[in-house]
Amino acid sequence: MAKIIAITNQKGGVGKTTTSVNLGASLASLGKKVLLVDIDPQGNTTSGLGINKADVVHCIYDVLINDVHPKEAMADTALENLKIIPATIQLAGAEIELVPTISRELRLKKSLQLVKHMFDYILIDCPPSLGILTVNSLTAADSVIIPIQCEYYALEGLSQLLNTVRLVQKHLNTTLQIEGVLLTMFDARTNLGMQVIEEVKKYFQQKVYQTIIPRNIRLSEAPSHGQPIITYDPKSKGAEVYLELAKEVIAL
Ligand code: ADP
Ligand code: MG
Repeated sequence: MAKIIAITNQKGGVGKTTTSVNLGASLASLGKKVLLVDIDPQGNTTSGLGINKADVVHCIYDVLINDVHPKEAMADTALENLKIIPATIQLAGAEIELVPTISRELRLKKSLQLVKHMFDYILIDCPPSLGILTVNSLTAADSVIIPIQCEYYALEGLSQLLNTVRLVQKHLNTTLQIEGVLLTMFDARTNLGMQVIEEVKKYFQQKVYQTIIPRNIRLSEAPSHGQPIITYDPKSKGAEVYLELAKEVIAL
């Protein structure tokens, strides 16, 4: 049975998608069967894995709204052990369309239960909001990974996120856990980066991953080639650290 991990932070640009794609690909390269679920209407995980959105027949929208079986919406990727349920801009409507539906927070959970047995890990790339798509993700998940960018105001907004996690734990998913906190885009040349690391470690203590993701230009180039870092530039620092992170996730 897969462990379902939501990669979430309502701030945009903190590394959720980069982490979903590259942690997913790294886990797959270590022999784990992985499903990526793109639940961000921007669909960056989808395009980052080289899927042309114009060619997508069924996306996560159809799974959530039209009761399409998640297997029908699954697409293969260039990596053998890695599959994806893509997102297209159609998903933008789901936030509103789900509001009046019955058990709207449970849609994703119910769908993923149908395919949980096929995988070791299911990673959900969340949108930059705490709306109904993120609540669906937190309800479906066993745990969350919170990427935090090593920048000014790193901790800003985290109390809202943790409050949402607590509300979901109370009302929808009592066993939801914090899997880990991931520091991203670290720049060793600045003092700021070190300060953020200290601050985040003080706050989250042993929940913070040992692996810290540095700024790496190859990581930002890979999506435009439709590839995870592990195939785009396997010798890069970015490939090395996401592989390290995957080993840490497996060891937990
Ligand atoms: P989110 O999904 O949280 O909005 P992304 O993963 O899309 O964040 O990252 C935001 C931008 O920063 C993207 O252009 C991405 O390529 C870039 N980026 C993410 N992580 C790194 C990194 N470690 N080094 C350099 N660029 C990065
Ligand atoms: Mg994203």
